Amino acid sequence: MKTEKLLIALPEGCREIMERIRLAGGESYAVGGAVRDALLGRPAGDFDVTTSFVPEEIMALFQDKKLIPTGKNFGTVGVEAEGDIFEVTTFRKDGNYSDFRRPDQVTFSKDIKEDLARRDFTVNAMAWSEETGLIDPFGGRKDLENHVLRAVGDPEKRFSEDALRIMRLLRFASQLGFVIDPGTGEAARSTKELLNAVSGERLSVELEKLLKGPSAMKVIGEYKEVLESFLGESTLPRKLTGAYHTDLAFLFEKQDEKALKAALERLKVSKKTRELALFVHENLAYPVPTDRIGLRLLLKAAGEEKAGALLSALAPEKLSELEDVIQNDVWSYKSLAVRGNDLGTEGEKTGEALDYLLDACICERVKNDRESLIAYLKKGKRL
Ligand code: ATP
Ligand code: MG
Repeated sequence: MKTEKLLIALPEGCREIMERIRLAGGESYAVGGAVRDALLGRPAGDFDVTTSFVPEEIMALFQDKKLIPTGKNFGTVGVEAEGDIFEVTTFRKDGNYSDFRRPDQVTFSKDIKEDLARRDFTVNAMAWSEETGLIDPFGGRKDLENHVLRAVGDPEKRFSEDALRIMRLLRFASQLGFVIDPGTGEAARSTKELLNAVSGERLSVELEKLLKGPSAMKVIGEYKEVLESFLGESTLPRKLTGAYHTDLAFLFEKQDEKALKAALERLKVSKKTRELALFVHENLAYPVPTDRIGLRLLLKAAGEEKAGALLSALAPEKLSELEDVIQNDVWSYKSLAVRGNDLGTEGEKTGEALDYLLDACICERVKNDRESLIAYLKKGKRL
């Protein structure tokens, strides 16, 4: 086994867990994203531990800790240490895949190399412990240095086992700014139809990460047809903002609302994301208000959240002014200096009168105080 002494700073809780496993006679390593990010000098998302011990052994060894055994059948036990939860997963070698997503069964292994072999990309297939240093059977470190994403093993086979890996490939390319090895990229294209078997929620998580990545434009440009296999026909976005709903709207700018709706449905996005995406999409073709009166009218018509989403999409430089308008100007019924029952009108007439007053205040035709508003209504023969 090729080892190399290299220091990775692990969180105290993670060290404690690894140490206890080792003292009890097991093997334990930090693995996956944490090792990749440490070697890149990026802050790691989470520190996962992989071990030769089976879940029962882990649970017995950490009886004194809070344990989360929900993933136990797949080999994963959450262990709390120093206030954080760490996922501790038994070395696995995956069985057959018949649904392109979940292995039919998982088999535990005693060999770290088998565990690394089931992982998706070489840069994610490295393990590290203080005692052994880096374990890197697939050349992950070299690929990391060269900024290359490469599947572990035969890419077409790996994507056919689990099609979500195709989307993970694109999102890592976007997040890390890495190039995709030609063989791996070719396989992503040739197996793209298998993405149809992946759940909307999982696709959505990866797509959102992809869209937020610094190299998103490049990846979308190069792999548009892969994304279109589940999104349907889409547009190369003119820009991306980092807000998922807005970026989805840009991604369908040249398509009709029906196409966007179908994609939102497929991705099973939240109701809020759906509403905002559709609102931004509907308004992309129109100029956004740039003066104060226009901003008030937009707020009156759409509310704070939608107005904010539209401005972030089309005129982000106006967002601070929007905030000022929200805080200080009259744009909603509740900011008017009169209430419906102050007017002595009934039913529909009250609503009409308030609307008339709000528009007048927004356009600065009347001052927002009770006396001026009542006088204005009388002058306009609304009372
Ligand atoms: P992130 O920083 O986004 O958390 P990550 O690489 O840690 O990235 P996770 O989803 O947390 O990604 O997965 C942890 C590790 O598990 C990966 O680094 C990889 O080794 C392995 N892995 C995750 N999903 C798959 C998959 N679908 N197929 C094969 N290996 C996977
Ligand atoms: Mg992770």
